[in-house]
Amino acid sequence: MVEKPIATGRAMPTIAAAHGVATDSAFGAVVPPIYLSSTYEFAGYDKPRAYDYGRSGNPTRDLLAETLAKLEGGAGAIITSSGMAAFDLLVGRLRPTDLVLAPHDCYGGTIRLLKARAERGQIKLRLVDQGDHAAFADALTDKPALVLIETPSNPLMRVVDIAALSAKSRAVGAAVAVDNTFLSPAIQRPIALGADYVIHSTTKYLNGHSDVIGGAVVAADPAQVAELRHWANVVGSSGAPFDAWLTLRGVRTLFARVDQQQRTAISIATYLEAHPAVARVHYPGLASDPGHALATRQQSGYGAMLSFELAGGVGAVQSFIGAVQIVTLAESLGGVESLISHPATMTHADMGAEARAAAGISDGLLRLSVGLEAEQDLIRGLEQGLNACSA
Ligand SMILES: *Cc1c(COP(=O)(O)O)cnc(C)c1O
Repeated sequence: MVEKPIATGRAMPTIAAAHGVATDSAFGAVVPPIYLSSTYEFAGYDKPRAYDYGRSGNPTRDLLAETLAKLEGGAGAIITSSGMAAFDLLVGRLRPTDLVLAPHDCYGGTIRLLKARAERGQIKLRLVDQGDHAAFADALTDKPALVLIETPSNPLMRVVDIAALSAKSRAVGAAVAVDNTFLSPAIQRPIALGADYVIHSTTKYLNGHSDVIGGAVVAADPAQVAELRHWANVVGSSGAPFDAWLTLRGVRTLFARVDQQQRTAISIATYLEAHPAVARVHYPGLASDPGHALATRQQSGYGAMLSFELAGGVGAVQSFIGAVQIVTLAESLGGVESLISHPATMTHADMGAEARAAAGISDGLLRLSVGLEAEQDLIRGLEQGLNACSA
């Protein structure tokens, strides 16, 4: 992976591993302590300190926010109680006349949130295939207030051009937010490509251990950071200190995890591509993938998410799931353990068969989040499943 230096001069893996380390003035604790207190003593009459109440601010949460902001190259970040709360922080302050332009194939929870807000008349919503240049240009004529971008997409790993879409959006006065959950700042930095906001489900790669639900919004502009921070306090969507502490603990190893996971992912993608039971592999790291050139230009790696279609369709999926070893059948991603999911019956079940077919999500499609298990064990485990398909 390319290590891109940031403004402070420290390389990103150094920030991830050590921002805030050995700064405790009370006892010299190397690991930044966790502050669980919900409230803070005033220094005297009308003399609040840096913190007064835990919904408005918390030192543990703020250290995570500062670390993520540095990693994403933003002015600051707001830590929320989930990825969806991070989206709603951005969307919830819009006005009924504001149009949100979102990808037609974005994360299901995001679509559900946007549709729910639009149905109540709180925003206007337009969904568009952002890989279709003409359709995107047409949608911009509606003058959106906010353009959401998600790349690579879930579960087909389609890659769109953040710099090009951001420039076009800005030209019509729209703010741009990129969901960077699938890659993390270790691989993709949307603000450097022109985005105004980066949104994370920290539940995934940033925490990395499948034991926290959390989210973050990073903003490029300090005025927007202040406004979002105010809004998070108004609506009360701030994340819990213990979750922030665990997430920062996860961030410490982000680069090492992602580096190893994506190396294994490329081996697995190559293995799957050559297997007769597999009809198609979606992974931008493969030279054969339609997103390969763009991903190579836009990202500093290819990540550890991939999906593949079994030649035998849904029958093969059932045989595969019954026989596969090592990987666990579960939703979510980005953890140290490998997870496999069946979008048609799990993450994308709510979409309905017709919308899935239109989006190219077949019943034979499986999505894999590659963990930290040994490559040979993972390949052997997957082989158990694949062998069962052809039986
Ligand atoms: C999981 C996920 C979300 C939602 O985050 P939660 O933490 O589950 O609320 C949003 N976008 C993407 C791409 C995700 O994978």
